[in-house]
Amino acid sequence: MWNGKLKAVTFSYDDGVVMDKRLVEIFNRYGMKATFNLNSGLLSHAQVFDKDGVEIHRMNAKGLPALYQGHEIAVHCLTHADLPKWDDETVYNEIRQDKQNLERIFGQEICGMAYPFGTYDERVMKIVADCGIKYARTVEETGDFGISENLLALKASAHHSREDLFEMIDRFLGLKPERPQLLYIWGHSYEFEVDKKWDRIEEICRRLSGRDDIFYGTNSEVLLI
Ligand SMILES: [Zn+2]
Repeated sequence: MWNGKLKAVTFSYDDGVVMDKRLVEIFNRYGMKATFNLNSGLLSHAQVFDKDGVEIHRMNAKGLPALYQGHEIAVHCLTHADLPKWDDETVYNEIRQDKQNLERIFGQEICGMAYPFGTYDERVMKIVADCGIKYARTVEETGDFGISENLLALKASAHHSREDLFEMIDRFLGLKPERPQLLYIWGHSYEFEVDKKWDRIEEICRRLSGRDDIFYGTNSEVLLI
């Protein structure tokens, strides 16, 4: 696994907003690999929302395969539905239609997902599996580097704004593990803009980059091994 390495780093970012362009540029510059979770029913620049006075636009489908080249695309549901609130038929539609649309747009098989709003339950997880999804991320975080046993209730190590993240990174860099250890960071690219924290992701990537003992992979590359 992981080209014979025992440490891996991956990132997961949601919603497909214009700030992903700046984030992808940073990831690419440092050799980081990420998974971007998209809502194919909302792929329009006309889709806009406000966060603390910052206008956040989603993106048109045109140009996205080139933008995200080298990274993974995953399901975030057709319209960002809060899945546990909906009937089976609608949950299937939200997942299956998003998967099919993204496979058509990106010309790659889609096998991952992030739950909109991080909400899920046993019924939703069963439908996720029925739709051929192999892993699905929640918004829970572990604060460590273990890999979730249940990949359909996948927990990240940390959100990028976690207070002790840089201590975690230093701890991770110092590890000489005997078992696989994964640093999994998630968030939304617009948070860097809203919080004026682009320097934070720059520093996260700078510290993690260029290590011979770390495998840098998308979510499916680090999880489905
Ligand atoms: Zn979302």
